[in-house]
Amino acid sequence: RIDSLLRILQTPPAATAGGTGGTSRIQHARNILLSMEDEENHLLAQRQAANEESHTHLRNAILTLLILVLGLMGASTTLVLYNFRRRKRTERVLKQSEERFDQAVSQIKDYGIIRLSPTGMIETWNCGVEQISGYSHSDTVGKHFSIFYTEEEKLRGEPASSLQRAEMTGRYECTGLRRRKDGSLFHAHVVFTVHRDHTGQTTGFIKITQDVDTQVGREQESNAALSRERTLSDMKSGFVALASHEFKTPLSVILSSTNLLERYTDPGMADQRARHIKRIKTNVGNLKNLLNDFLSLERLDKGIVRNDPGLTDLPELCEEVVQDMESATTTGHKFELVMLGESRPILVDGHLLRNILNNLLSNAAKYSPERSLVQLDLEFEDTTTRIRVTDQGIGIPADEQQHLFEQFFRARNTVGISGTGLGLSIVKKYLDLMGGSIAVESTPDVGSTFTVTLPSRSVHIALSEPTGAM
Ligand code: ADP
Repeated sequence: RIDSLLRILQTPPAATAGGTGGTSRIQHARNILLSMEDEENHLLAQRQAANEESHTHLRNAILTLLILVLGLMGASTTLVLYNFRRRKRTERVLKQSEERFDQAVSQIKDYGIIRLSPTGMIETWNCGVEQISGYSHSDTVGKHFSIFYTEEEKLRGEPASSLQRAEMTGRYECTGLRRRKDGSLFHAHVVFTVHRDHTGQTTGFIKITQDVDTQVGREQESNAALSRERTLSDMKSGFVALASHEFKTPLSVILSSTNLLERYTDPGMADQRARHIKRIKTNVGNLKNLLNDFLSLERLDKGIVRNDPGLTDLPELCEEVVQDMESATTTGHKFELVMLGESRPILVDGHLLRNILNNLLSNAAKYSPERSLVQLDLEFEDTTTRIRVTDQGIGIPADEQQHLFEQFFRARNTVGISGTGLGLSIVKKYLDLMGGSIAVESTPDVGSTFTVTLPSRSVHIALSEPTGAM
């Protein structure tokens, strides 16, 4: 169209027919211009529409982007808040569990538990530390844990090296001497564990200490209690077994003698009556001895019997025991007291010693022929006092002598002789309490000698103690 317009404009006006050529040329040009204008308008409208469309797209894109950004911001805020709350909740749970743990730890008495800083300063601890070391909380918190160490260990650098080793391997265990507040020493078993944060940095140590001496003592105590329980229970079962056997004979003798006594009403039967009354008395005596043995043993095993030494005139005590035996014997035994060495009072529990001598002397009479001699030697030496009981009886087979002091033990040559097998075990326990000892020498069918040795300590104390100690 521009070309047509240019042609019209380049064509001279005369060239047009009838003189109207100029007008029609203008008209033509105008038409062309008008159509060009229309076209331009049309193109303008199209461009405007395209522009508007692209604006709309841009706006939409921006809006979408905005919504997306806002959404993202909202989501991340929610996430941050959620994480924050979760962390707070975790921290609360952790704090509660730490409090519960601290509370539980604070109740532990047998172990000293200390939290140390990375340099070994005491931050906190439980009451077990005070129990073991004697130091109070305020004595130690804020101080270095080496206060529990001996000077030698400090010089050797033991505290620092313990922390280093724990840091290297995570845990370090050792046993050594530690010092209490009062200066006394004890053996401690110690375990160090290291605490680190999430970056692996050491944040402190936990030190757990156990007083090994006390622990061993407690174990020994509970073992002793257990063994006492066992002994008591063995003794009770032994008693049931023995009672069913040993009670039967005296009880049936007593029963038969009382039955016979009922029949011996005749005045001329006084001798028979006397014989049966004696049998009843002897058997009641046997039952009484048996019960006494059990009671003594139970009292010993329960720890009720105590050694209560006092200055004692030994010859006088032995004389009394010998006389009592002689007046009570129904078998015509002779009891003789022989004194050797220079007599002096000694520190001994007279009551326990009397029981021991009664036991040994009545055994000597029981296991030896009627009317034979039982000798009691009392020998004072420089540092000891010995008492020997010698009989001329049945003796004890050599292979059985080692069992004599065991409960319920009776040698095989005692068949037909009543007894419980408890007397010598009681004697042995009395002597253990008194710090003394007993030994036996015996030859079957010749006789036996039981030798009691009283501790030299008693004699020394007796010599140096003023008389007021009585
Ligand atoms: P029991 O005399 O009641 O049997 P003991 O404990 O006193 O119990 O004595 C244990 C055992 O030791 C006796 O059964 C006996 O075998 C032996 N025995 C003790 N003393 C003597 C003694 N003087 N002579 C021979 N045997 C003895």
